[in-house]
Amino acid sequence: MTKLYKAPRGTTDVLPDDQPYWDRVWEASARICGLFGYRRIETPVFEEASLFARGVGEVTDIVQKEMYVFQDRGGQQLALRPEGTAPVCRAYLEHGMHNLPQPVRLWYWCPIFRYDRPQAGRYRQHTQLGCEAIGEADASVDAEVIELLFRIYEELGLQGLTLHLNSIGDPTCRPRYLEALRGYYADKLKRLCNDCEARYQRNPLRLLDCKQDRCQPVIAGAPPFTDYLCDACADHFARLRSYLEDVGIGYLLNPRLVRGLDYYTRTVFEFQPQEGGAQSTVGAGGRYDGLIEELGGRSTPGIGWATGIERIVLNLKRQELAVGEPPRPRVFVAFQTADARSQSFRLASDLRREGIAAVVAAGERSLKAQMRHADALGAEYAAIIGKRELADGAATLRRLADGHQEMVPLADVAGRVNQ
Ligand code: ATP
Ligand code: MG
Repeated sequence: MTKLYKAPRGTTDVLPDDQPYWDRVWEASARICGLFGYRRIETPVFEEASLFARGVGEVTDIVQKEMYVFQDRGGQQLALRPEGTAPVCRAYLEHGMHNLPQPVRLWYWCPIFRYDRPQAGRYRQHTQLGCEAIGEADASVDAEVIELLFRIYEELGLQGLTLHLNSIGDPTCRPRYLEALRGYYADKLKRLCNDCEARYQRNPLRLLDCKQDRCQPVIAGAPPFTDYLCDACADHFARLRSYLEDVGIGYLLNPRLVRGLDYYTRTVFEFQPQEGGAQSTVGAGGRYDGLIEELGGRSTPGIGWATGIERIVLNLKRQELAVGEPPRPRVFVAFQTADARSQSFRLASDLRREGIAAVVAAGERSLKAQMRHADALGAEYAAIIGKRELADGAATLRRLADGHQEMVPLADVAGRVNQ
């Protein structure tokens, strides 16, 4: 027997019944990003693989374990986009956006590819909404992007999200913290998972990001970064918190919050739902003052976040929040005899040009089967053309809810439906 195909492991189909959730998230996102003065950018689905090695960091899960890398027929090493920030920064540099008023405020909505272990809310292709504000270091911009994400969740009616907030310092204060962290971990290596042993050597900050159960007690006792911030970073953090208080956004100080990507400095944050713990962060972001320079530009500060649409939709469904119905045709055009087919086909076409959603029967089905189809589609009316209607240049218009029907000249069908 021929093989039946399935979507590749870790990918999903977003079926028509789910589209109202997606539409709602898109609509709220586009509108609120616009309210905050953010403009949409789209970058390619693939980039040179080295962009991510540079921009995300060699010693990250994304680059080491999760990236889809391939060579194209011309021999270029490419990667399917595993995150959105590095491509947007690449575009900022490539198109000379430093010449625009700063910060440049951008948002995006795009597919992301990661070879993750598939489970609820974790896929190998998912969709991210993200924003970046590039070119301004002031703490008000940190507060602005956090408020933007908060307002989108608020508009969607997502409940039970907690904003976790931390600062992970900058190149001035981080070395001292890493020393303290290494000192703390030095006699606990035996209790850690294999990955963490490697992190201890190569990327100690990432120790705090481990998801393994056995590492959690060690993480819980680690020194908090906030005790080690230099004056400039401490001041930045205090100003961010005061701006958040100005606009009534509550947060939880989480001194052990770090982010999975290398380029973050100072502010890091995550929105976590009550259910599901750290595996189910809905949105996360932070400041990346070192990234643009890393990509070959002049030293330029930036901050942004990304949020997974599948995880938002999962939470909307968990809350049983009502979203709109999928669209239905208003008119189903049916024919009683084969010689009425052309007339039916033309009527459907005319209705659509009048802005009325219409579906026409196809194939060789009986009128009864066509009417069942009209019901199944949830159509409001059936317009039926038989011998008599054909002769009179008319259609029988039946309101499916109550069966009320009348013969209407073809030219009047649209008007009657819209009455
Ligand atoms: P996690 O710790 O859950 O793996 P992450 O730190 O890798 O998340 P980010 O890189 O910050 O996640 O991505 C931003 C958002 O994208 C996440 O908060 C989440 O909502 C979503 N996301 C990340 N990875 C996946 C995935 N594999 N499937 C679905 N959504 C994802
Ligand atoms: Mg991840």
